[in-house]
Amino acid sequence: MRCPYCSNQETQVKDSRPSEDGAAIRRRRYCPDCGGRFTTFERVQLRELIVVKKSGKRVPFDRDKLARSVAIALRKRPVEPERIERMVSGIVRQLESLGETEIPADLIGEHVMEGLRVLDDVAYVRFASVYKNFREAKDFEDLIGELSGDEEGAPPVPPVSGSDG
Ligand SMILES: [Zn+2]
Repeated sequence: MRCPYCSNQETQVKDSRPSEDGAAIRRRRYCPDCGGRFTTFERVQLRELIVVKKSGKRVPFDRDKLARSVAIALRKRPVEPERIERMVSGIVRQLESLGETEIPADLIGEHVMEGLRVLDDVAYVRFASVYKNFREAKDFEDLIGELSGDEEGAPPVPPVSGSDG
């Protein structure tokens, strides 16, 4: 694996362990030339996916690109990287298991929104606002309303007790 910092071809694997509940192998690598450290993931790829954009243009599906847009939405949010990885892997698995080679870009966006909605409300709104390209402020408000109507609106109900002892 080539060093992303100095392009040296000879990097070393320092550590290798299962990740994402065994769905991936995480390798920590080290470059003896520049001292750079980076991490790679090895995953099963069930099928090659092609993304069909709105314009009709077809491009190979790029997991890293998907992960980057998710990471941008989640910037500075208190979500563990491992959970983010798992979400991205989950989306890819769902896309792969559709049984189609060509995936509409919209569908990927929908999956990302669903995943972010579960992971982090703020990231969800960030992503959705870009993805849906809101023209009217009202749309945005509707979305916020939808979110605040969720679990956060109601206080947690304490478990009924009183018979312990
Ligand atoms: Zn290097």
